[in-house]
Amino acid sequence: MGTKTAAILFTACLLLSACTATKPESAATSNQQDSAASDSSNSAKDQSNVSSPKSSSKQAGSDDHNSAGKTNAQNDKTSESNETGAATSATSATTNNKMYHLDKAYNVIPNQQGTEKKVVLLTFDDGPKEAAMINKIIDVLDKHKAKAIFFVNGYRVKEHPELLKLIHDRGQPIGNHSWDHIVLKNKSEPEVKKQIETVQKAVKDITGQAPVFFRPPHGAGGDVGRKVAKENGLLYMTWSVGSLDWTMKKNQPNKTEALLKNVTEQLHPGSNILMHELPWTAEALDSILTRLEQKGYQFVDPQGIEVPAS
Ligand SMILES: [Zn+2]
Repeated sequence: MGTKTAAILFTACLLLSACTATKPESAATSNQQDSAASDSSNSAKDQSNVSSPKSSSKQAGSDDHNSAGKTNAQNDKTSESNETGAATSATSATTNNKMYHLDKAYNVIPNQQGTEKKVVLLTFDDGPKEAAMINKIIDVLDKHKAKAIFFVNGYRVKEHPELLKLIHDRGQPIGNHSWDHIVLKNKSEPEVKKQIETVQKAVKDITGQAPVFFRPPHGAGGDVGRKVAKENGLLYMTWSVGSLDWTMKKNQPNKTEALLKNVTEQLHPGSNILMHELPWTAEALDSILTRLEQKGYQFVDPQGIEVPAS
């Protein structure tokens, strides 16, 4: 009897602590103003440390490569579950077949021979910010029959739930980019859980679907970010090609040309391309996608990429 009571009490404590750890309000209110104000510049500064125009794909998003070798379970798993990925058309937007997986450098790799290799994954981080910019980006994506992952921050979703809904309603997948856009790798596990799980809940509450993709802010999730992402059924990724749009200034001339150069210099089959919800990126997007098509690349449907079992 005594043992049983203790077990029940222990379970109750666990449940209570889990609930406390995932309470949305606590993350939602923490220095929201500061984050909103400094997001772009922080992002620019930190991300430029891990990716430069001259950097090879090995260096892009490189914070994670230190420990990428430790976590090959996911790759092993994905290569075993190829059965579901029938060798049909490579980038059909309508299929749910998982025909691709990410390798340790976060490139998109076909599961089977015969599946199109020359693909890129398009991603836009740090939104949702403005309806006009989101619509402009998605208009271009639609024109090119492309899908992109929109990695959003919880504090922005809280400010503009209607913008999250706009992205979702226009058929673009939403990814988790943490609540506050802080560096997660040195944070405690409860703090990282809060940063990730509050976004899962907010996105699910608004769109009806929780994200299946996670990108740590500044490419720096560390082992704890990877662990918590996996526990939430999230596919963890940084990127393999940086557009460097985050380093550009409003009054800088020829940003479209610079973006084209940055993207094509590092371009390779499976490129996981990092862009941001920024006006000059929206402006350049049609040129970028046209150039990619001219080079023979297709746009992978994120839904065709394997994610961990949740
Ligand atoms: Zn970011």
